[in-house]
Amino acid sequence: MRKTKLRLLLFGAFLLIILGLMTAFLWIAVRTFTHFYYTETAHHLETKARLIAQDLNNGVPLRRSPRLQALCRDLSSAAAVRITFIQPDGRVLADSEEFPEHMDNHADRTEVQGALAGRLSTSERYSHTLRQNMLYVALPYPGMPPQIIIRVAIPTTSMSHSLSNLYIRFALFSGLVILCGAGLGLWLAQKISRPWEEMRRHASRFAQGELNQKLETSELDEANGLAESLNQMASQLDDRTQALLQKQQEQEAILASMAEGVVAVDREERILNLNQAARVYLNITAPRVLGRPLAEVVRNSQLQQLLAHTLTGTISVEGDIVISGNSERFLQVHGSILRDAQAQNIGAVLVLNDLTRIRRLETLRREFVANVSHELKTPITLIQGFAETLEDGALKKADEAKHFLQIIAKQTERLHTIIEDLLTLSRIEQESERGSIPLAPGLIQPVLLAALSMCRPVAEVKKIKLELSCPEQLQARINDRLLEQAVVNYLNNAVAYSEVRTTVTLTAESTDTGILISVRDQGIGIAAEHLPRLFERFYRVDKGRSREAGGSGLGLAIVKHIVQAHDGKISVESEPGKGSTFSIHLPKINQFPLPSLNYNLTCALYFPNPIILSFQCFPAQHHAVVQP
Ligand code: ADP
Repeated sequence: MRKTKLRLLLFGAFLLIILGLMTAFLWIAVRTFTHFYYTETAHHLETKARLIAQDLNNGVPLRRSPRLQALCRDLSSAAAVRITFIQPDGRVLADSEEFPEHMDNHADRTEVQGALAGRLSTSERYSHTLRQNMLYVALPYPGMPPQIIIRVAIPTTSMSHSLSNLYIRFALFSGLVILCGAGLGLWLAQKISRPWEEMRRHASRFAQGELNQKLETSELDEANGLAESLNQMASQLDDRTQALLQKQQEQEAILASMAEGVVAVDREERILNLNQAARVYLNITAPRVLGRPLAEVVRNSQLQQLLAHTLTGTISVEGDIVISGNSERFLQVHGSILRDAQAQNIGAVLVLNDLTRIRRLETLRREFVANVSHELKTPITLIQGFAETLEDGALKKADEAKHFLQIIAKQTERLHTIIEDLLTLSRIEQESERGSIPLAPGLIQPVLLAALSMCRPVAEVKKIKLELSCPEQLQARINDRLLEQAVVNYLNNAVAYSEVRTTVTLTAESTDTGILISVRDQGIGIAAEHLPRLFERFYRVDKGRSREAGGSGLGLAIVKHIVQAHDGKISVESEPGKGSTFSIHLPKINQFPLPSLNYNLTCALYFPNPIILSFQCFPAQHHAVVQP
């Protein structure tokens, strides 16, 4: 349907009414005035015809004669009309405008026929004599039967002229009225339509979400009521939208801060929503995934099966999946049905827990147990074997017995070293986790001197020269006991894996990034492929040599944990045959990071059902786990 503007409609209707009224007025006025003018003129002509009839009583003979012709002309000029005297047979006796001899018979003229019928007759028609339109009035004289017909006439052109002037004035007046009416109509149309247009404009702004705009009150009472209702509606909508927005933001904030990944899908498995953790866990890098099928975004058959089970079943589904990528990720997926307010099934929610770390820890633990068992097994087997040999009679042979007892003593010492190192490692780990390793600003040099003096006896056996280079005032936040142990471990290794008469250099210096402590030897060096795993527990490049040197395989792992407790870093550079440099990087005192917080707070809230809230607080992230 064609839409018309209210203003145009009102103005058009108003204009049409005015135009109709003015046309009707003009039509009636023109008709009335024309009729009135003609009637009046005819009446005047009749009066003049009757006066002329009186003049004819003066005894002028009523036949075609110069005298009658002269009288006719005199009367014509006096009355300012055309005068014609006509015999009843139609013969013209005299005419004020023409010689009667030149005129044809007038018996057929309408007005003449009317007069011959005995009545005053009027007609308006074209005059062939004067070649113009005339208004004729014919009077029978002196009565019935008439002796002659007195006919008076005037040209209608003069009447038309007067009437035209009148009509022009009417038209001008009507034009003025229409113009004023149009102006008034326009003003009225604007006045009526403005509040509605305002309302339409505001309503479309409301629709676009600009709900804080207010409609102003108008002069129209009806529009005012509607404007108030609209304002009220907008304000309510605004409140609700704000509340919804806030709720949505809260939900998004909760989802974003969750450590668990959350993915919501509809019944066609298209993604409705997902949080950042889910993106990370499922390796989703595409920026726009909402509305796309989950199977298209994450190509993982285990996940698809789990989702299909969730969507087709009625109870929650749980399962473990593996996401392959740069490194494998183990996820525990909990799928449950997503229902709307009417409890209708509208899709599914998948909650993803990252088990990768736990799995790695489990693997590490298994490997560690296997390694420890393996490490302990060799000395125990040897001790058991030699003890049995001694029992079986070797004890009686003094030389053999002494040799066997020396082996038992050496293996016992090895067991002792392994157990000592295991205990040290476990203690450092526990203290580090609890955050109970005290660090304080301290001088580095005394720590290095103490470490050197610990290693000197072993170095002297191999005639290895120990050198130290350390500024006296060099400071760092340290635990001197642990740092000394780390340096001792480095020095012991340097001595153990170096040939006789070489030099081991211990240096400490301040760098742009912090304090650097290095132990450089001229020993056997390490091939590049071993370097990444060197600091793992029980990792050895050459197992035989390590055991020969009395190593437990835990020395570097202990260094790693000590340095981590100092928020520092370890590094190694080595070249086979040329030697190695093992380093410790400690942060500068003013760069030292905030002590790491790791609080566990559990509290119980007693709602209708008790809920236990467990808060874990880390320096850069906070999250709460709700356990009903
Ligand atoms: P171990 O008790 O066997 O020395 P560590 O953890 O201290 O155990 O060292 C792990 C392994 O790293 C050693 O077995 C050895 O192969 C290698 N290693 C450590 N320090 C050096 C070094 N300075 N030169 C050469 N190899 C080294």
